[in-house]
Amino acid sequence: MKLHEYQSKQIFSRYGIPIPKGRVAATADEAKQIAKDLGSWVVIKSQVLVGGRGKAGGIRLAKTSEEAAEFADQILSMEIKGLPVRKVLVDEAAPIEAEIYLGITNERNARRPVMISSSAGGVEIEEVARTTPEKIVKILIDPLLGLRDYQARDIAAGIDLNRECWRQFLQIAKGLWQVYKDCDATLAEINPLVVTTGLKLLALDGKMVIDDNALFRQQQLAEMRDSDIEAPSEIEARRYGLSFIKLDGNIGCMVNGAGLAMTTMDIIKLFGGSPANFLDIGGGASSDKVSAALRIILTDRNVKAVLYNIFGGITRCDEVARGILAAIQEVKPNVPMVVRLVGTNAEEGRRILADADMITAETLVEAAQKAVSEAQRG
Ligand code: GDP
Ligand code: MN
Repeated sequence: MKLHEYQSKQIFSRYGIPIPKGRVAATADEAKQIAKDLGSWVVIKSQVLVGGRGKAGGIRLAKTSEEAAEFADQILSMEIKGLPVRKVLVDEAAPIEAEIYLGITNERNARRPVMISSSAGGVEIEEVARTTPEKIVKILIDPLLGLRDYQARDIAAGIDLNRECWRQFLQIAKGLWQVYKDCDATLAEINPLVVTTGLKLLALDGKMVIDDNALFRQQQLAEMRDSDIEAPSEIEARRYGLSFIKLDGNIGCMVNGAGLAMTTMDIIKLFGGSPANFLDIGGGASSDKVSAALRIILTDRNVKAVLYNIFGGITRCDEVARGILAAIQEVKPNVPMVVRLVGTNAEEGRRILADADMITAETLVEAAQKAVSEAQRG
């Protein structure tokens, strides 16, 4: 789960990381009022969960409160990389001397968190890694010991940070580590961490990704989820406990098991098709879960065919078949459907589905080929 910039920065601030003064606005009038209250130049920043907002015109510097209102109005009517802007952050503008990158993520190979820093901040770190990798410093963190002072100093030296800023940098680096750890984050990033002309360090941008598997013990963070920006179908799916991710293709997929769902998508691609979604209905799916899943798949207008790929293990094929039948009666789909049932009680499952108007397949290859050709025809 991603947090917005303003949410990340509020958390940073609680851990002693300095952030600019500012507040969130949903209208131009609110933005104007905030600018007035701040009484300085402000930056108006779109709050959308993608990077590169600056380049997309989603960040503007306003010198007066009238300008703040004008820019907020413009930005609030924008879409950035397909996401509508619903809120802007109005922050006191900072006089920038230098921009640093500072972030923590997991280093899978080392099985440890890694702190990454660079003197070339402000641009995406992937870009820096490609063009000037020598400007990137990395330090592995022992999760039990935490980030040690000497490590933070090594980083400060590695990015050639002005000595006068080291104490502040140490506090920020250690604060960021604490944030990362306490929030069960998989990414905590400040880009840019700026050095102001007065040699103060300030986190101008913030980005956090929280491990979804930890949300059960991160209640406060879980409540910060912005469902505005998620596809409505994904929100609906979560309500039914389905793992669903909307994609751009035209073959709806209903599969039990995440691995099988991935395989199904791969094989659809292999035969020249394109999946409309990832969907794992999970083990022991009941008929109301199956019909919810079908409803969600069919609300996508791109869907030209549906492929059911069910491997009966703990989930019994006859139960899934009953679920599919109930779902079809409820949803009345008008696209061709290909079904492959294998495993426990598959025979009975097929018998149950015999009356339904469905195309059957024995193997995954056959199922995928049929779904692809149906989708192409449709
Ligand atoms: P991103 O493009 O989505 O990563 O948004 P950022 O918050 O990182 O902002 C992009 C760039 O805008 C920064 O790297 C800065 O160069 C600039 N910027 C952001 N806030 C300020 C500010 O307060 N003052 C000045 N002068 N520039 C800013
Ligand atoms: Mn940034």
